[in-house]
Amino acid sequence: MRPIIIAANWKMNTTPADAGELARTIAARTHEASVERVICPPFVCLATVGEALAGTGVAVGAQDVHHEAAGAYTGDISAAMLAGLATWVIVGHSERRRDHAETDARVSAKLGRAIEAGLRPILCIGEQLADRDRGADAAIAVVDGQLRGAVGPHDPAALVGAGLVIAYEPVWAIGTGRNARGSDAAAMADAIRGGLRDLGWDVAADGLPILYGGSVTAANIGEFLAEPSIDGALVGGASLKPDEMAGIVARAALTANARRAETPVG
Ligand code: PEP
Repeated sequence: MRPIIIAANWKMNTTPADAGELARTIAARTHEASVERVICPPFVCLATVGEALAGTGVAVGAQDVHHEAAGAYTGDISAAMLAGLATWVIVGHSERRRDHAETDARVSAKLGRAIEAGLRPILCIGEQLADRDRGADAAIAVVDGQLRGAVGPHDPAALVGAGLVIAYEPVWAIGTGRNARGSDAAAMADAIRGGLRDLGWDVAADGLPILYGGSVTAANIGEFLAEPSIDGALVGGASLKPDEMAGIVARAALTANARRAETPVG
């Protein structure tokens, strides 16, 4: 059975002065043993948030990692630098693809660094509005290309061992208040698992958690979790609001418990 995961992407919000308090509040209000919770604050808040979350069961993730192990890359953060600060890492977020010209090849290299460092990667892939406007097949073709570009060069066993999670995030739904339909997200999740099978993942594709991301709130999370192929959410704007996170994780716990009850024992 795949886990239910709710990951918070705080983006470029919070400071070391206020991040600990927010993390503590969210942890206390989302205490659901059946849901894996992850908070990804800015790099400079990782230590503070890690201290605040110690013993809460909420994991800490970074929002990015550099594609090289070390070197002359002013201002960048390597996988080795994250040791002791984060156990998860987001790679390929569309805001990094947009603002830092990250290509699929670069995202793939970042995945490699995450694997080497024992960081659990959340790989973000998703189409632009123009792709979606050309129809579902066009959107699937774009996402499939991103999947092959990032995942294709890696040994499936290494990615499975690293605990890879994929977040399907249609770019037009991120931060816009306009979320995808649950059925479209589910169709994309099925296509992603199909793509992984083509890449040699075989049955491991069925075990890969796929999250939806894009304007998720406590009010709409149910539409995504009602889809058996969706295993949680990557939450941006709403993840800064404890009330929203409490609602999202409470709804996720209902799904986790229901799926557990449906899973045959033995
Ligand atoms: C994100 O940052 O990955 C995201 C999905 O943002 P939002 O929830 O604000 O759309």
